[in-house]
Amino acid sequence: MKLLIAMMSHETNTFSPVPTPLSRFGSGDNPPEGSAALAVATGRSSTMAGMVYVAQQSGIEIVIPIAAGAPPSGPVESDAYRYITDRICDALDDCDGVLLDLHGAMVTETLDDGEGSLLSRIRSLRPGIPIGVGLDMHANLYPAMVENATVITGYHTYPHIDMFETGSRAAEILLDAMAGKVKPTMAWGNCPMLPHVMRQGTDDFPNRELQQRAMEMEEQDALAVSLFTGFPHADIYNAGLSAVVVTDNDPEKAQALRDELLEMAWRDRESFVYKIEPLDASVSAAKSAAEAEGDGPVILLDHYDNTASGGSMDTTEVLREILRQSLDDVAAFGIFDPAAVETMIAAGVGSLVTVSLGGKFRLDALEVQSRPLEVSGRVRLISDGRFTVTGPMGTGAAMNMGKTVVLDTGRVLIVVISRHIEPYDLGCFTSLGIDPLQKKYLMLKSRIHYRATFKPVAKAIVECAGVGVCTSDYSQLRFNHVRRPIYPLDRVNADDFKEHLIHQP
Ligand SMILES: [Zn+2]
Repeated sequence: MKLLIAMMSHETNTFSPVPTPLSRFGSGDNPPEGSAALAVATGRSSTMAGMVYVAQQSGIEIVIPIAAGAPPSGPVESDAYRYITDRICDALDDCDGVLLDLHGAMVTETLDDGEGSLLSRIRSLRPGIPIGVGLDMHANLYPAMVENATVITGYHTYPHIDMFETGSRAAEILLDAMAGKVKPTMAWGNCPMLPHVMRQGTDDFPNRELQQRAMEMEEQDALAVSLFTGFPHADIYNAGLSAVVVTDNDPEKAQALRDELLEMAWRDRESFVYKIEPLDASVSAAKSAAEAEGDGPVILLDHYDNTASGGSMDTTEVLREILRQSLDDVAAFGIFDPAAVETMIAAGVGSLVTVSLGGKFRLDALEVQSRPLEVSGRVRLISDGRFTVTGPMGTGAAMNMGKTVVLDTGRVLIVVISRHIEPYDLGCFTSLGIDPLQKKYLMLKSRIHYRATFKPVAKAIVECAGVGVCTSDYSQLRFNHVRRPIYPLDRVNADDFKEHLIHQP
């Protein structure tokens, strides 16, 4: 017996100006293939690693054509999508089953549902082949994903620290199905609501309770139960919250559990709505928090520009306000600006420079734009930007920030990078000789994933409304394609929500 295992992972922010060519997949030039792809799935905590582990424990032969994962950004270029999906489909020939690590929110230049299109193509090439899929909690579910998969599993944590378990669960159920031990049957539904990403953390109500209930169902009544909070910064028809329940040949039970989860989420919809505070008030609140008793840095979250939700990572408004209010002893991660990095490398370590930082992407999806920030300081350190994750999320992953410079303004250490990464691991700072725990303030361009490492050591956390394509102010975004009505963009009567469900069966 032989299994094909592959990764094709991208969360597409359709409002993002950041391009997504093939070179964005992987931590170097192009996505790893063959033995390099196997290396990516060994000793890591990813979904694909969980799939590979289960297959290897069972002594099954595996083939890994490609492991393609890119940080979130705008729609995937058609050539990149074709390349990745061709590699997977070309390796199908003598395989008996397929395990795929997919995100579930991939939009390409021509497709709203990149994953569903891949799965349909696999099924048309090999009708009846068993397919197990692991999805991110931010999946936007489409019918073609469910119709062309044997089993689907999803994360139960945000920050995502159970990717490995999600992959191994999909693999175990698929192998049991192939051995005739179980007969997976699925029910799914997509709810007319767009939960705000900042309110989706599993430390908090209501997603904590939703995921706990899903896990309880998995223990008691079902093979796999996934509640996808969805990714709202995607102007596509099926964006939103959804659920998939897999039972062992019990369709009625699958439907009943699916209905229970979706009704629970709908009842708590108001708690998924974000309330915005003015930026100057947030930065003042951070100053007050720093004066209070306690240890650890005060974290200022520049969450409108989180690269792991498609942010350009070059907006400057939160950093500008930090400088304007004269916060001292700050480390900021980071500003994406390869041109400024080159200028500072040319100047050399120790030199005084004045650079125009960030504000270079045009944010066509927004009415409000960011502006470059002119900053003077000393070039403190130059790095190749590579480090290995040691924290609980993505443990062991090789990170590449590209050429990186630390610019010291006297009050603020600004990390300026050439490749997009979200600061969810201490290595973002420690690899550059900065001890983040000794700083009074950290500015992080993150939304929830920073919690995995930084929340336990922070004195306080202040959410700052800057500028960016992950804006919490939905009135800044033009939604033209998402189905309507959808909460909270529209009022949906409490009792009418079932009419607006997309579901099967
Ligand atoms: Zn996610």
